[in-house]
Amino acid sequence: MTYLKTALYQFLILIFSAAGPVAAASLSDQDMQQIKKLEQTALTSNLAFEIDESLSTEVGARRVGTEGNRRSIPWAVAKMKQLGFDKVWTEKVTHTSWTRGTAEARVVAPYPQKMVAIALGGSVGTPKDGIRAEVVEFKDFAALKAAAPGSLKGKIAFVSFHMQRKIDGSGYGPAVMSRVAGPSVAAKKGALALIIRSVGTDHNRLGHTGMLDYQEGIARIPAAALSPPDADMLSRQIGRSKPVEIFLKLTTKRRDDVPVITANVIGEVTGRSHPDQYVVLGAHLDSWDVGTGAVDDGIGVSVTLAAAHYIAALPERPKRTIRVILFGAEEEGLIGVTQYVKTHKDEMKNHMIGAEWDFGTGRIYRMIPGVGPSALNNIRELADLLAPLGVALSPKNDAKGQSDMSALGKAGMPAVNFSPDGMAYFDWHHTENDTLDKVDPDALKQNTAVFTIFSYFAAESDVDFRK
Ligand SMILES: [Zn+2]
Repeated sequence: MTYLKTALYQFLILIFSAAGPVAAASLSDQDMQQIKKLEQTALTSNLAFEIDESLSTEVGARRVGTEGNRRSIPWAVAKMKQLGFDKVWTEKVTHTSWTRGTAEARVVAPYPQKMVAIALGGSVGTPKDGIRAEVVEFKDFAALKAAAPGSLKGKIAFVSFHMQRKIDGSGYGPAVMSRVAGPSVAAKKGALALIIRSVGTDHNRLGHTGMLDYQEGIARIPAAALSPPDADMLSRQIGRSKPVEIFLKLTTKRRDDVPVITANVIGEVTGRSHPDQYVVLGAHLDSWDVGTGAVDDGIGVSVTLAAAHYIAALPERPKRTIRVILFGAEEEGLIGVTQYVKTHKDEMKNHMIGAEWDFGTGRIYRMIPGVGPSALNNIRELADLLAPLGVALSPKNDAKGQSDMSALGKAGMPAVNFSPDGMAYFDWHHTENDTLDKVDPDALKQNTAVFTIFSYFAAESDVDFRK
């Protein structure tokens, strides 16, 4: 490159880097001041924590089919109205019946010891006298899959995989396979039951529950998770090279023929000029029956409701509508959002962009967009607004929406994934320890500030995030 070309090149860089944000500006100076005010409100108010406190105190555990779940629906409707939403409604979601019952597990031989176990969600029960059988250990899901057909006949399969602690929760994927798909894989090899080391990063003597997914046409076998220290003890006994026999009894009842009704609870802060264009915030209202769901997904419920409230309280609404969807029956396998996508398929194009909270207890450190190539310029402006809160823009542009929102992403809605610090999340996930004391009020303020800025930015701009 000649000197002149280099100089010209540098000059162009200067021009474009100076002019870029101004040329692409989605919002006016007045809007920017509004965003600063919203940020200050969110960073100083305790509202999100108060919402979670209300949910975990006045409702608590709310698994589909339980009394808590039934109470959570009027709670959410009343909360949305109280927070100034313009429209609030529910949409029916139907699932099937499952009751947890009790779980009993112990080593019978060679060294008898009791173990702490919890049934996996959706598991069938054992015969009423339980199952007593030899255990075969697999270090991971791949090893279970590789077992020879028929090799587990009359035995209980045990996957002892340790989930890895990662800030973005990426240790969950490899660990959760044995929970979700393990029961049918073990059944195909002839196993009587499956037990797994809990999918979690803690060492508490508590089991982590969570949904399994039986494959069509394969025998349904009972499945449970052992607490991490019990799973480790069982591995040590197996390591002594003597056959290890255990007893497992689950009194769970699964009734696919008995319907259970729940709901998606939806609220809107109506836009002033494009009321039929939606910026969608999502979280799930249901929880597991253990714990009180203060973290999963009480945090998501609180962050999305508080963010929409701050915008509802402004003297003037942004152009687009903010639609908050509190999904039903997420834990059972995205049942509520599947119903939502069916019901709203004709207005999917009006879902301009969405974000969900269903992970983490810490501060948001990253934003991953999933938008069209030209909307990426606008996302960079949003990133500039979020940078002072410690949120970095990911170089990727492939977000499809988290959790429930992934179904909307699949249906064509652009999405933004916010990554909160998830280092501690899987210590409590789906356990009795999912309680309000795990919620960090200061992190919640930052989380809410991020969601509020995102919501206002997306609702006040005219950007087509699909382009
Ligand atoms: Zn969740």
